[in-house]
Amino acid sequence: MAHRFVVIGGGPAGNTAATTAARLGAEVTLVERDIVGGAAHLLDCIPSKAMIATGGAMNDMRRASGMGLVHVEAQLDFEALRTRIAGIENRLEGSVTGMLRSQGVNLVQGSGRVIDPHHVEITGADGVTQVVEADTIVLSTGSRPRIPEWAPVDGARVLTTRDAYPPPELPSHLIVVGSGVTGVEFVHMFSAFGSDVTLIVSRQQVLPQKDPEVAAVLEDDFLGRGVKLFKGARAEGIDVTDDSVSVRCDDGRVARGSHVLLCIGSIPNSEHLGLTDAGVELDHGYVVVDHNCKSTVPNIYAAGDLSGKLPLSSVASMQGRKIAEHALGLHAGPHRHIDYEKAASAIFTDPEIADVGLAEADAFADGRKVRVTKVPFSASAKALINDDPRGFVKIISDPATGVVLGGSIVGQHAAELISVIAVAVTAGLKVGDLAESLFVHPALAEALSDAAD
Ligand SMILES: Cc1cc2nc3c(=O)[nH]c(=O)nc-3n(C[C@H](O)[C@H](O)[C@H](O)COP(=O)(O)OP(=O)(O)OC[C@H]3O[C@@H](n4cnc5c(N)ncnc54)[C@H](O)[C@@H]3O)c2cc1C
Repeated sequence: MAHRFVVIGGGPAGNTAATTAARLGAEVTLVERDIVGGAAHLLDCIPSKAMIATGGAMNDMRRASGMGLVHVEAQLDFEALRTRIAGIENRLEGSVTGMLRSQGVNLVQGSGRVIDPHHVEITGADGVTQVVEADTIVLSTGSRPRIPEWAPVDGARVLTTRDAYPPPELPSHLIVVGSGVTGVEFVHMFSAFGSDVTLIVSRQQVLPQKDPEVAAVLEDDFLGRGVKLFKGARAEGIDVTDDSVSVRCDDGRVARGSHVLLCIGSIPNSEHLGLTDAGVELDHGYVVVDHNCKSTVPNIYAAGDLSGKLPLSSVASMQGRKIAEHALGLHAGPHRHIDYEKAASAIFTDPEIADVGLAEADAFADGRKVRVTKVPFSASAKALINDDPRGFVKIISDPATGVVLGGSIVGQHAAELISVIAVAVTAGLKVGDLAESLFVHPALAEALSDAAD
C-alpha cells in the first residue's frame, strides 16, 4: 500500500511537501481551509511585492530626468492596482492548483485537525466532517498578524498587514508601527504612492537586526523622502476619530495621521489543531521540531511559519521538500539538513537590501576574525548607466582559507544579486572562485567579482 501522506495547510510549506511526496510515490491528501497558495500568495509576499513593484515604477518615473527624459509625474490608479493584484493572485492560485493536481495530490477543502497521530479530521464549510488515515502528517498552517490588546483593529483606519493589499483607500498620512522588514517595506511602498508616512521605531535604528551600515542607507532614503521617524518610541495606545488616528507612545509623543498599520510580528495558527492532545509539544504556540522538522510525535512534522524557524516563504518550501524526503526514506541518500544560517533574505525597499550567511556585525560581536571587502556601486559602470549608484556589495570571508562566509548587498536588484553569494556560502566556494568567474559586462554583478578580488 502507498504511504499515506496528509498535509494540513496549503501555503508554500504544504504545497511543496505535497508535490514532493507525490513525486516520491506517496498517496497525498492536502487539506486547505481557504485558498491554495496560502498567506504567502494571497496575503503576504506576493501582494506586498506587487504593490512595491508599482511604487518602484512610480519612483523610476520620478527619477526619469536623470535618464535624459523630460520629468514624468506618475499618478496612482488605486482600482487598477487592486485589479492587478487580484490578477496576479488568481494566476498563481491557478498554477499552484494545477501543479498539485498534475502530481495527483488529492485536494480537500476544509479545516484539518489531528485526532491522533494516524487520523486527521476534516470539516468542510458546510460543517460535514470526514476522517482520513495518515502514515505521515505535515502541519503547515502558517501564522497571522499579532494584534496587541491596545490596538482597535477595524480594517478601515487601524490596519494589520492583511488589510493593506491595498487598503480600502489610499492613506493621506500612514503611521506604520514597527520597523522590522515588513514595516520598512510598507513605509517604502506608501511613500512611493505619495502618502505622508510616520514610522514608529522602538529602538534607535530601523531594521534593528541588520548591519547598522545597511540600516543607515535606508534611513537616509526615508529621511530624503520626508518620512518622519519616531525613534526609541513604543506605541501603547491608538485613538480613532472619524477622519484621523493618533498613536500614543510610551515616551509621551503622539503620532497623528489618517491611518495606522501594525507591523509588529505574527503568531502561529496552532489552536484548534488538536496538537496537545495528540502529544505534539508546543513552545509559545509554535511546534517544537528537530533538524528534520519532526515534532515530538515521530510521524508528525511541522513546516513553515508554524515551525518557529525562519518565517520566509523560501524556507517554508525547503522545509516542505525536506520533510517529504525524510518521511519517505530519502534522507538515507544525499540529503542535507537545512542550515537556516545560510538562507538568503531580502528587503524590497528602494534601494533593495539583501544578505546571506555571516553578518559583519555578528562576526565582530563574536570576536571572530573575518575579511570584509566592500565595493560601492558608484564604481560600477552599470549602476551609472542605470543612473542609480546608491549602495554597495560587501563580502565576508575567512581570512585563512578564503571561504565565503556571508555578504550584504544594498542597491538595485540586490534581491537577485545576493543569489550569487548564497550559492558561494552554501557550496563553500572561496572568494577566488568568484573573482575568477567571468561575469557579463556591463552588469551590476561585476561588483561581486570586484569585491571578491
Ligand atoms: C507582509 C508580509 C510580507 C512577506 N513577504 C515575504 C517575502 O517577500 N519573501 C518571503 O520569503 N517571505 C515573506 N513573508 C513571509 C511568508 O509570507 C511566510 O513565511 C510564508 O507565508 C509561510 O508559509 P507557510 O506555508 O508556513 O504558511 P502560509 O503561507 O500562511 O499558509 C498556511 C495555509 O494554511 C491554511 N490553514 C491554516 N489553518 C488550517 C487548517 N486548520 N486547516 C486547513 N488549512 C489551514 C491557511 O488558510 C493557509 O492557506 C512575508 C510575510 C508578511 C507578513
